[in-house]
Amino acid sequence: HLTKRLSAVAGYVPQGARLADIGSDHALVPINLVASGKIDYAVAGEVIAGPFSRAETAIAEAGLAAQIQVRLADGLAAIQVADQIDTVVIAGMGGILIRDILARGWQTLKTVKRLVLEPNVQEDVVRTWLMQQQFRIVAETILREDQHTYEIIVAEPSSHSVSYTAQQIKFGPLLMQAKTPEFQAKWQHQHLTNQRILANLAQAQNVPQAKMTALQAENQQIMEVLHG
Ligand code: SAM
Repeated sequence: HLTKRLSAVAGYVPQGARLADIGSDHALVPINLVASGKIDYAVAGEVIAGPFSRAETAIAEAGLAAQIQVRLADGLAAIQVADQIDTVVIAGMGGILIRDILARGWQTLKTVKRLVLEPNVQEDVVRTWLMQQQFRIVAETILREDQHTYEIIVAEPSSHSVSYTAQQIKFGPLLMQAKTPEFQAKWQHQHLTNQRILANLAQAQNVPQAKMTALQAENQQIMEVLHG
């Protein structure tokens, strides 16, 4: 059984995909997808011994060791050419770590047709990298689970040039179009937080003008995206 977040991630893995789940930990995503018959081959990559053996045990207990390879490796180094991986999942890490993993393993990505990424924070860093490497964002989801908001970014290599505005990088090109209740709640909350900080800063001995201007600009941008 998958959580709401992991179930949304798994939902973006195409039927019959050859999957690499990098930073797999408990290997829940590959186990679920193979057990349900949606895919029949996966690599679960882990860089740390503890999570690696957790994945190994879970896969063995599910009786799926023939279909899911567990590899102790840093990032995309878990993928071998013979795996013919076409879909890569990287979920549950910060955006900077996800970006670094992608950037360091760029060579392996040549055969990849789809990336399913779930950065817990710094989503903008991931979108910027995707744009620079000419990946097009084909789907985005925002959801709430355990008092946290998660964004899932699905990207595919593009033969056309890809370009996003600063606003699309920050808010998500598809999320800012869809403006779901979860999206509105996230940015309304950010707006409110900024307002509180602004109120406090205004009372400071030496009012930090640059910081205040930046927060005001962000709040204006949030208002434009939510109501524009
Ligand atoms: N992907 C699962 C999820 O979304 O629930 C597990 C997320 S867990 C918070 C992050 C995992 O990424 C940890 O198990 C950690 O060991 C692994 N990790 C961190 N850096 C990694 C790297 N460079 N290569 C492979 N795994 C990595």
